[in-house]
This record gives sequence, structure tokens and C-alpha cells, in this order.
Amino acid sequence: MTNKATLSVHAGTRQDTVSGGVNTPLIASSAHDYLNQPEVRYPRYFNTFNQQVVVEKLCALEQAEDGLLMSSGMAAISLLLVGTLQHGDHAVFVEGIYGGTQDWAIGELAARGIEFDFVPLDSNAIDAACTDRTRLIYVESPTNPLIDVLDLAAVAGIAQARGILSAIDNTFASPILQNPIALGIDCVIHSGTKYLGGHSDLCCGAILGSQELIRSLRPKAYRYGGSINAQCAALLERSLKTLALRVQRQSDNALHIAQALDTMDGVDQVYYPGLTHHPGHRIAARQMSGFGGMLSFRLAPDIDPEACLRRLEIIAPAVSLGGVETTICQPVQTSHAKISRQECERLGITPQLLRLSVGIEAAEDLAIDLRRAIRAQ
Ligand SMILES: *Cc1c(COP(=O)(O)O)cnc(C)c1O
Repeated sequence: MTNKATLSVHAGTRQDTVSGGVNTPLIASSAHDYLNQPEVRYPRYFNTFNQQVVVEKLCALEQAEDGLLMSSGMAAISLLLVGTLQHGDHAVFVEGIYGGTQDWAIGELAARGIEFDFVPLDSNAIDAACTDRTRLIYVESPTNPLIDVLDLAAVAGIAQARGILSAIDNTFASPILQNPIALGIDCVIHSGTKYLGGHSDLCCGAILGSQELIRSLRPKAYRYGGSINAQCAALLERSLKTLALRVQRQSDNALHIAQALDTMDGVDQVYYPGLTHHPGHRIAARQMSGFGGMLSFRLAPDIDPEACLRRLEIIAPAVSLGGVETTICQPVQTSHAKISRQECERLGITPQLLRLSVGIEAAEDLAIDLRRAIRAQ
């Protein structure tokens, strides 16, 4: 089994020996026998039956050896940062990473005596920022909200040459479209709240990598907690069975919509790596098997963004992303609300910029909804 569609459905699934059902049984106990079992199972030891099944499926999809299922994406990110960085260390982050991660680094690292730099999304800039105390290179690709792309094989090469751990938040691409471990990156993080859950009704996360890395993180994971219960794990397993199907459709839809927006009256610019004029197109085509379900576009100056959002009939203005339903947001009001206007301007994030998380609806319906809302027809 190597095909992602097959792995999404079957990897990790355990036989239901009680009734012969085709699904993994849900074993909800948090208390387990310790006298007659080789290993005591407990949710916060990350070793209950339903947790393990999902880890197995995610490892198969990400080509990882082991992983930990967490209660949110930020729980996974926090664990990685507290588990790999110590007083006196240095870390390199790229600009444009998830706001919560940026906030974590700024709010927590200095207080722990850990130095860090944010550098532009470019492998040469990353290399130049590394010192002999650098222990972690932390990246995202594609990024939010301009869907910029970073050459991951180049980043992995830099990290390996210097003996530094490399990690990526792979939430936007999902394991279906991008496998950073196969490109040489050491650790993959997901906010499972997004594509992995996929129905905007779960909050979870995952950290995946080598057995050695995950083993080194376990003591901190036990101390800090951040595990999920069996019901959430089972719901996530159910959701993951359609991951390949959903993401493929979302990616196909996004390309269709990006092309429609690219020539639409009232749209000044479209940011989507599937468009040949996108600066990251060639790298994305090389390291991803599809361009993803996320895209942004800039409205013409005479269009009021909020009025445009209110005219939409199918597409819902909402935060978060990755669900089966298409959602839209204005980053200056949502993901970048806490960032100064000047900094937003510097990054190209103006009030005219809108971000779409494309769902699985008929692409044509979505394009019509956008066209009507943009020009108030
Ligand atoms: C949402 C998100 C996170 C945080 O995940 P939570 O599940 O909300 O904690 C991290 N990274 C990216 C790219 C995200 O979109």
C-alpha cells in the first residue's frame, strides 16, 4: 500500500474482533489493567488504542516512523519547541508562519533564554541566520496568507549539513500534497483542526518524525499533557478516510477558482502557486503533488471588502480553514488582526486582500458566487 487514497482509507485500521465490523472499534476506557498488560495504557501516555491507530495512519501518509497525536496544532508546536530547545540555544523561523506560532516564539522563547531570528522565506536567508548555537530551523510552506513557497529540499540540505533539526508546519499542504520527510525535513507538524479533521468540527494536532525524535519528546509530552481522548481520535480516524478524496477535490477546485479570479473584473491579483505567474510555481510543482486548497486575491481599490463578503451566498466568511465548505476571510481582520498596520503593509497584507479556503462544492458554483459578490451583480 503506497497510494495515498488507499492509505487514507486503510492504513492503521484494526479489525473489530467482537462483531466483525469494518471499522476500528472505539475503546473509550481511560483506566486500564496494569497487572496483565505489558504496557499500561493511559490517554496522557499517548498510547491508547484509538490514539495509536490514528498515529499509524498519519505515519503512513507522512512517511514518518512515529508520532504523537495532540489536542491542538498549538499543543504540537509547543511540545516541539519546549522539547528541542534549551537555555542558550538559538532557533531560526521563517517570516509568515502561523500567527500563534510567531506569538509563542516571541512570548515564550526569550523568557527561557533561547534566542531566535525571523528570516525571509528563502533558503539562503535561513542559512545565513544559522549560528553554531542554532538547534532548530522551523518553516512553513505554503504560507499564510500569500501562499508563498519555500524550497524544502534546500532547507533540509542546510539543516543536515549543519547538524540542525528541521521542522515544518505542513498544515496548508496536508500529507496528501506534500511529504516533507521524504524531502529530508526531520519533523512534521499538523493542525489537525484543518484538513485532517476536514469538517470544521474537531480540534487536534500531530507531531511526526523519527522514532528517536518522538522518543525524545515523550517525557515532556507526559508532563505538559495535551493528549486527546478516544472519541476524538476515532472521529479523526473516520475523517482521515476521506482525506485524499477531499484534498484532491479542494486542490482541483482551488486551481479552477484561481484561474477564474485571475481574469475576473474587480480582482487585481491572485496568489496561488498553481498559476504559472506565481513566483513559487516551479518549486511547488516540484515538491507538491497538487497546489492546495488555499488561495488569496486582492480586490480592486474601488471595492469595499466587507460589503463583498456580505454579498456572498454560498461561501461563508469564517476563520480557520480546511473544511469541506468554502470559507473566506480578510486577513487584516482575522489572522493578522494583532499585527500593526505598518507591518501588514510591509508584508503585502492590505484590507483589499481576501483569503479563500476552498471546499468540495462544485467549483463553478463557487466562481459564480465570487463573481456576483465582487461586482455586486
Ligand atoms: C490553525 C493553525 C495552527 C494552530 O492549530 P490549532 O489546532 O488551532 O491549535 C498552526 N499552524 C497553522 C498553519 C494553522 O493554520
